Amino acid sequence: MIIDFHTHVGDLRTPERMDRLPVTWEGLIERLDEEGIDKAVVLPTRVSPESMRGPALFQPQGDLLSQLETARKYQDRIIIFGNVDPRMGCLGNLEPHQVANPPETDFSWVLERFREMGCVGIGEITANIAVDDPRVVSLFSQCGEYELPVLFHCTGPGRGVYGLYDDVGLPRLERLLQAAAGTTVIGHAPGFWAEIEGDITVEKKFVYPTGPIRKEGALIRLLRRYPNLYADISANSGFNAISRDRDFGAGFLTEFQDRVLFGTDVCFGGADGRMPHLGYLRALREENRITPEVFAKITGENALKILKLYSAGAKERRKV
Ligand SMILES: [Zn+2]
Repeated sequence: MIIDFHTHVGDLRTPERMDRLPVTWEGLIERLDEEGIDKAVVLPTRVSPESMRGPALFQPQGDLLSQLETARKYQDRIIIFGNVDPRMGCLGNLEPHQVANPPETDFSWVLERFREMGCVGIGEITANIAVDDPRVVSLFSQCGEYELPVLFHCTGPGRGVYGLYDDVGLPRLERLLQAAAGTTVIGHAPGFWAEIEGDITVEKKFVYPTGPIRKEGALIRLLRRYPNLYADISANSGFNAISRDRDFGAGFLTEFQDRVLFGTDVCFGGADGRMPHLGYLRALREENRITPEVFAKITGENALKILKLYSAGAKERRKV
C-alpha cells in the first residue's frame, strides 16, 4: 500500500500567483489515482496565521471543521489529521502563586474531540515559534499521551517565515525529543532537511541546498539517537535532501528505512500539483539502489506502523 503522508486541501495561493489552482478533494483523489497512490494523509490548513496568505480567508468551507467533516466522505482514501496552534490555550488570569510558574496549556479537550472525529495525528504545525518553546513541548507531550503523532514544518531562526524554528545543529529539536520522548515527532521542511549535511550556515536552513553531502549532519545524529523522530521527505526540501547526492541519499534511505515517510506536500491543483518523489523512489528501486523492502517501508508500511489509531480503526471496520 502506498500512502502520501503529506497533503493539503484548500486554497494555499498567494496574491502574486492567483493563476494557480487550489487543491480540491476531487482533485486530490484524481491525483492519487493517476500516481498509483492508495491513500493520503490530509493535514488541515488555515490554523496558524503564518501559513496563510490572503486567498485562504475567502475560501468557502475552508475552516477546520469543514475540512474534517468532508474528509469523512472519503474515508477509504483519506487519513485525516487534526491541527492546532501551540499558542492556543490562554491561561486566563493567574492566581498569585502561579505568576512565577504558570501552569502548562491544556490541549486535552481539543485532542479528545479530534480523536472522536477520527483524526489519527496532528499537523502540520506551522506556528513561527521555537521548536522547544514551552507551549510546543506542552502540545507535543500531550499528543503523545493521546497516541497522536505530530508533524511539523521546521525553519531557521528569524522573522517572516512559517514553521517552528531551530538553530544550526537542531539543538532545540533535540530538547523537544527529550522532553516529549513518548511522542512520535515527524520533521519536514528546509530547516530540518538542510541538516542532513554537517557544518551548514544558518542561511541554508531557509533554502534548498544542492550538491554533494561532504559531512553527516545533525539530522542523522538525531535520527540515530532518538527513536521517536521520523523524517517526512515531502516538498522540495525533502526531495533535494535525498536526491542532491544520489549515493548518499540511497544510503540515508536504507539506514533510516524504518523512520522515513514518503509524502508530496502538493499545494496546488493541476500541473503545479505534481511532485517527483514517488517517481524518484521507484527509479531507485529499479536501479537496485534501494531494496523493494526499503521502498515498501518508506512508501506505506512506516506510515501504518506509526498511525496506530488508524490501524486500530481499520481493523475495527473490517470486523463490522
Ligand atoms: Zn505542508
